[in-house]
Amino acid sequence: MRLTEDIALVGGGAMTGFGLSSDFDAHVYLLDGGEECALVDCGMGTPSGIERVLENAKRAGIPGERITKLFLTHYHTDHAGGAAIYRERLSLQVAVGAGAKDALELPDHDATGFAAAKAAGIFPSGYDYKPCVIDDPLADGAERRVGRLSVRFIETPGHCGAHGSYLVTAPGQSYLLAGDAVFAGGKLFLQAIPDCDINESMKSVARLAALDFDALLPGHGAICLRDGRSHVELANASIGRLALPANLV
Ligand SMILES: [Zn+2]
Repeated sequence: MRLTEDIALVGGGAMTGFGLSSDFDAHVYLLDGGEECALVDCGMGTPSGIERVLENAKRAGIPGERITKLFLTHYHTDHAGGAAIYRERLSLQVAVGAGAKDALELPDHDATGFAAAKAAGIFPSGYDYKPCVIDDPLADGAERRVGRLSVRFIETPGHCGAHGSYLVTAPGQSYLLAGDAVFAGGKLFLQAIPDCDINESMKSVARLAALDFDALLPGHGAICLRDGRSHVELANASIGRLALPANLV
């Protein structure tokens, strides 16, 4: 599904998305930089989910061969579980915040939260989270190009320990791909997991509120193509009143 000439939405589950791929997938975005394209997050990577993502990409005018990179926001299964499969199938390079590299490469199921999520019955019993080589561990502020688009990595911990967001700048429009750092309506996604940190989450919201961007493209739920900053400001204003913003779930 084309969102703008720069970005398509090619995956996402039925629970918090638009039923485009596997039920538990987070939103999967596809940056269209022209000669180069890149996924931002990839979902859990079930065989049928991957086929749907690639079919959706093709419908948006982007065949798999043009996808050269995958940027991950964090290591949770609904965002990154399919990374190893996409890396092999599309021969793409995987980028993620440097702090998430070890958890994905081992993989460390405690660190990624997969062990807890599996025990809680969140993912199908036969599903496994495959280790993924990280080609491009990103430092805070790292800049990358995807064709005509520039992509800046911003550390935004809180939802989990090693979480990052991406500020994508195209000629005439900018986008914040916030992962699970902040959502439409100024909501947060705080969970009862060991590496979720409310105070870090608040600091990350303040960081994002200081940026200039047009669209807010979060990892779940509504997508805001205009005035996306107002949603982040809503969360930040709530924190300014010492009130915890509403939670996504
Ligand atoms: Zn998520």
